[in-house]
Amino acid sequence: MTAPRLEIRLDRIQHNARQLVNRLSSQGISVTAVTKATLGSPPIVAILTEAGIAGIGEPRIETIESLRQAGVNLPITLIRSPMLSQVARVVAVADVSLNTEREVMDHLSAAAMARGRRHGVVLMVELGDRREGILPQQLEGVAQHVLLLPGLKLIGIGTNLGCQNGVVPTDGSMAELSDLAISLESRFGIALEQVSGGNSANLPWLLAGGVVGRINNLRLGESILLGREPLQRQPIAGLCTNAFTLIAEVIESNRKPSLPRGEQRQTAFGLAQARPLQANLPGAGAERDCGDRWRVLLALGVQDVDPSGLTPPAGMELLGASSDHLVLDTGTIAVPVGTELSFQLSYGALLRAMTSPFISRRMVRQDSDRVSLADL
Ligand SMILES: *Cc1c(COP(=O)(O)O)cnc(C)c1O
Repeated sequence: MTAPRLEIRLDRIQHNARQLVNRLSSQGISVTAVTKATLGSPPIVAILTEAGIAGIGEPRIETIESLRQAGVNLPITLIRSPMLSQVARVVAVADVSLNTEREVMDHLSAAAMARGRRHGVVLMVELGDRREGILPQQLEGVAQHVLLLPGLKLIGIGTNLGCQNGVVPTDGSMAELSDLAISLESRFGIALEQVSGGNSANLPWLLAGGVVGRINNLRLGESILLGREPLQRQPIAGLCTNAFTLIAEVIESNRKPSLPRGEQRQTAFGLAQARPLQANLPGAGAERDCGDRWRVLLALGVQDVDPSGLTPPAGMELLGASSDHLVLDTGTIAVPVGTELSFQLSYGALLRAMTSPFISRRMVRQDSDRVSLADL
């Protein structure tokens, strides 16, 4: 088998999606599955569809185009504000897009009219995380503008917290979003289909009994794929956190002194590492003299993955990474050349690993009585 590779347990992802869809539907909340960390992988979209998601959310038009080409006909939302230069592509393949800019929506409307269709718009409201969104006091004016555009349909409003500044969704911010929905509806005599409360960062609030109000949709990525909430990266009870494993091969294994020899300046990617990448793990630190240790090199590097998001096997410590090498301290354990080692990945490391042309993907669906493999 080729290395490095990502082993993807489709059954575990599906389990997570099912759990979340069921728990949220009991509160009247639909799940838009955000597949960006898998680059919108069609087999993953297929198992999510079986799990009962309401639609797909993707930030990039290229991904949405390839999902359509793969025959996906679920509702798809473009979850990043469209580029002005891409409005024609957006209305061609996405049912809905999240929007904040009048000028972009003017052009979306014209592009939709040219295709003889209406494009759905969810207006994003800025509730404190300071990334995308219309300020609450400006929402009514923008909504009025959208309602006058013949190529657009105002589907709803939404917000996004947790991503830029780690701002925590609370009863307060969710009530603010609900109130904005209610006031738009009464001001314009309309009914909003969707009030999209946020992303996986909303789950701690929701699962702890948060007041749902008008929120009827969440856009979930990390929680489905990795079983964790992004605010503190805690596992969500009942979900699998091990659907993805990155496997890399040992290319050198040798006992070496733990400390460098010679005068030191910058390294390949910046400053000399004063501390190991994962200082919380036991083992030899780069700056302490621990005598001779087993040091293992893997054929994997910064070009493939964000090394700070990798969790090595128990008893091993990640010492550093350059473009094509990952260096591990394996303590007193000799790991022969050719051995494959497995790593768990953070969301960021997964995103990057999926993007690397050097990492192959192996999708595994393992039920109790049946194992089937599908190489991508
Ligand atoms: C990435 C993204 C999501 C999904 O976030 P997760 O933390 O992965 O659940 C939702 N909405 C927007 C706008 C996003 O960019």
